[in-house]
Amino acid sequence: MSTKFYNTITRQKETFTPIKKGEVKLYTCGPTVYDVAHIGNFRAFLFEDLLKRFLLLKGYKMTHVMNITDVDDKTIKQSIEKKIPIQELTETFTERFFDDLKRLKILPADEYPRATAHIQSMIKMIKKLIDGGFAYQAGDGSVYFSIDAYPEYGKLVHLDFGGQKSTERIISDEYTKDNPQDFVLWKAWKEEDGNVAWDSPWGKGRPGWHIECSAMSTEYLGAHFDIHCGGVDNMFPHHENEIAQSECATGEPFVNIWMHCEYLLVDGGKMSKSLGNYYQIFDLLEKGFTPETLRYILLNTHYRKTLNFSLSKRHEADQAVQRISDIYERLTSFVGDKTASASFPKVFNDFVKALENDLDTPQALALFFNWIKQTNHRLDEDSLTLEDGASGLRFIDKFNSIFDLLPGRIEIPATVLSLLNEREEARTNKNWKLSDDLRDKIHKLGWLVKDTPDGAKCQPV
Ligand SMILES: [Zn+2]
Repeated sequence: MSTKFYNTITRQKETFTPIKKGEVKLYTCGPTVYDVAHIGNFRAFLFEDLLKRFLLLKGYKMTHVMNITDVDDKTIKQSIEKKIPIQELTETFTERFFDDLKRLKILPADEYPRATAHIQSMIKMIKKLIDGGFAYQAGDGSVYFSIDAYPEYGKLVHLDFGGQKSTERIISDEYTKDNPQDFVLWKAWKEEDGNVAWDSPWGKGRPGWHIECSAMSTEYLGAHFDIHCGGVDNMFPHHENEIAQSECATGEPFVNIWMHCEYLLVDGGKMSKSLGNYYQIFDLLEKGFTPETLRYILLNTHYRKTLNFSLSKRHEADQAVQRISDIYERLTSFVGDKTASASFPKVFNDFVKALENDLDTPQALALFFNWIKQTNHRLDEDSLTLEDGASGLRFIDKFNSIFDLLPGRIEIPATVLSLLNEREEARTNKNWKLSDDLRDKIHKLGWLVKDTPDGAKCQPV
C-alpha cells in the first residue's frame, strides 16, 4: 500500500508522491522564542518528529527545516517588559527550546534558520512582490500584501472573501491599508520597537511574521517543496499568507501537502497559567513523567484529533512503557547471542500499513501492544521459537525508530556488575547471608537490586 496523508488544502487523504524520487523536503513552523514552549506546542513538534521518522523508515532521504522566529511583535514586547535586550531574550529561549527537543528525543532538523539572520532574503521577496503588483507601500512606510491581487487567497482554509471585502473596508479603522484583510510584509519602525530595526528600500523597519517563513523555506528548500506542517493554529492567517506570498513571488506552486496537528487541551479545557495547568516539558519531567511517557501520551492520539492531556495519564503511560522494556529484556535474554534468521513478525506489515494510513498512531500502538501480549504468553508457555524471538527484536527495533519509547539503556558500572555476579554466585550456593551483604554493598553504591525470574536486575536508587 502506498502512503496516504490528509492534505489540509484538498481536505482529503492523498497518496504521497515526493517531487523528487526518494527525497522529501519538509518545512515545519518553529517556535517564537519569547517564552518557554509548552506541551501544546510540543504536541505539534512530536507529530512532525513522528512523520519524519516514518518517512525515514520508508527509506526517503529527508531534508527538514524548522525556523526560529526571533523577531516579531511578541519578542519585542517581551524584551521591553523584561528590560532584556531582544537578542539576549531570544537566545535564552532558543537554548531552552533545543534542550526540550533533546529531552523529548526529537530528531534534530537539518537547519534551524533564525529570522534575524535572513532579513535580506525577506527584503528580496518583498521587492519581487511589489514589482509583480502583489504588494504596495502604505503611507507610514509599511508594505502590505494586496489580497485583491491574488484571487486564490483563502484556498487553504477554504474561505471565500468575495463580497465581504467592501463591507469590511468601510468599518475598518486601518486607513493605511487598501483592504482590511491585506497583511503586512514589512512593518515600518515605530518608537515602541526601540532599536529593533533594519534598513530597507522602504525605510527602517522589520519583517512581518508570515514573510519570515516564506523567505526561509524558499531559501532552504526551493520554491516548491513536498510537505509543510504546523499546528492548526498556524493555518490562518499564517499559512494562508505564506501560500499567497510564496506563490506570487516565485510564480510556482508552493507546497504539495499541508499537514496540521490539532489542539491539546488540559483536563478538558484550555491550558492556562491562572488555572495552574500550564505545563512545560521541564515541569512534567519534575512531576515524574519521563521522555518516553510523554512521547507515549502525545503520540497515542491521532494527530488530527484533539488530545486531552491530564496528569492522571501518567500511570497508564508508565505501564505501557514498562511493558515495552520488559518484552525487550525478555526477548534479549531469550535470544542471547544465538544467531537466528531474522525476518519480521507478520504483524509488522499491518503496523506499517497503519502508519501509511495518514499516520494512524493509535492503531499502530494497539497492534504493537497486542503483539507484546501474545509474545509474553508464548514465552510463558515456552512455545516461542528462536526465530520468533529474533524477529520480535527486529520489530521492537523498527517500532522504536519511530516511537522511541524504549528508555535509554543505563550503563551499569563495572564494580557494580562484578558485585552483582558475586551475589548471583552466592545465591546459587544458597549463601543467603553473603547475598544480602552484597545487596547492601551495591545499594551503598547507589544501585537497587531486583530479583526477577530472568535473574537479578539492577537500577539506580
Ligand atoms: Zn511559519
